[in-house]
Amino acid sequence: MRATGTALTAALLFVFSIGTAEAACKTSGSFNGWLKQFKADAAAQGVSPRTINAALSGVTYDKRVIGYDRRQTVFSQSFLKFSGRMINKSRLSRGRAKMKKHASTFKRIERQYGVPAPVITAFWGLETDFGAVQGNFSTIRSLATLAYDCRRPELFRPQLVDALRIVERGDLRLEDMVGAWAGELGQTQFLPSDYMETAVDFDGDGRRDLKNSAADALASGAALMRSFGWQAGQPWLQEVRLTRSLPWAQADLAISHPRSQWAEWGVTRANGKGLRKDRLPAALLLPMGRNGPAFLAYDNFRNVYLKWNESLLYSTTAAYFATRLAGAPPAHRGSAQGTGLELAEIKQLQSALQRRGFDVGKIDGIIGAGTRKATKAMQIKFGMPADSWPTRELLRQLR
Ligand code: CA
Repeated sequence: MRATGTALTAALLFVFSIGTAEAACKTSGSFNGWLKQFKADAAAQGVSPRTINAALSGVTYDKRVIGYDRRQTVFSQSFLKFSGRMINKSRLSRGRAKMKKHASTFKRIERQYGVPAPVITAFWGLETDFGAVQGNFSTIRSLATLAYDCRRPELFRPQLVDALRIVERGDLRLEDMVGAWAGELGQTQFLPSDYMETAVDFDGDGRRDLKNSAADALASGAALMRSFGWQAGQPWLQEVRLTRSLPWAQADLAISHPRSQWAEWGVTRANGKGLRKDRLPAALLLPMGRNGPAFLAYDNFRNVYLKWNESLLYSTTAAYFATRLAGAPPAHRGSAQGTGLELAEIKQLQSALQRRGFDVGKIDGIIGAGTRKATKAMQIKFGMPADSWPTRELLRQLR
């Protein structure tokens, strides 16, 4: 669960970015002075002096954490490339084996929370390779560093208090508080506040141990998804096949239609058979434009996946991974490979759109919501299929 920790924002539609812009802020005062004040604040919020001292005495500032926070690696990756890398053969087969191994736990989880095994298993695989790679940063030290730092103290101070509470509640021992650089913990990478609010003890040992207990981690993942609004028995993502003459401007995650409407427009299941003609709301998700893979995104996708992680690229990959674990064949690749714009071309596109009066945010080579919206508007203006996917042809027209 990395919605806030690693700052993958909603803007990062099909370009994946780690880290954030250089902080324009300046941290003032010494770390030790800050820590002393924080200890008093934590005590005022009801954390016991024993826990505070055990966890925070001698804690030092970690430069590496701020290095990660300021890292500006932006790399352009298409859905096919990213999902191909994240969902390789080995991970798929290990995922299937995990579902088998934990079948009775998953059964209980689905009964209680309504979330099926493939959905949780896909997150489990993407977040930590099914628990194997949980990170090796000291959670307390990382969070203390980020809470002291000037960039997002309001986000990380409560997380640090909740990290102390996790220890105080007896869920994890202090030496188990090790995870990702931004404080995410356990096999499903929960931020401490989600951990405190939503984690459950599912193996019955009295502790919510998301680090060492797969049952606790998986049920907690399901509990979190249910808290986001997961609807039991409903689909999340379904690969579809398109006709050449769709009203392309309707292919927009913000626009949903009854499934019967998509069927009427000629959208079929991936195998060419008819869609069920019912009222189930669905949006048409084209991660690489109309010539690439195509999916119907149902409410469970739109409401739940994007809360787990705001990056649409990550969410689409997680949801697609879950369909594969549920038995779907690999998605049709279409003819969209290689037609994506390079970083420099995206910047040219953004400048051109900006000159025409569109708000595309920073000229950063990241195809965010603003760039997509402007792309769609210009495609409509030029009489091109308005699938919001910027192509070289559009760039030529804009010049
Ligand atoms: Ca437990």
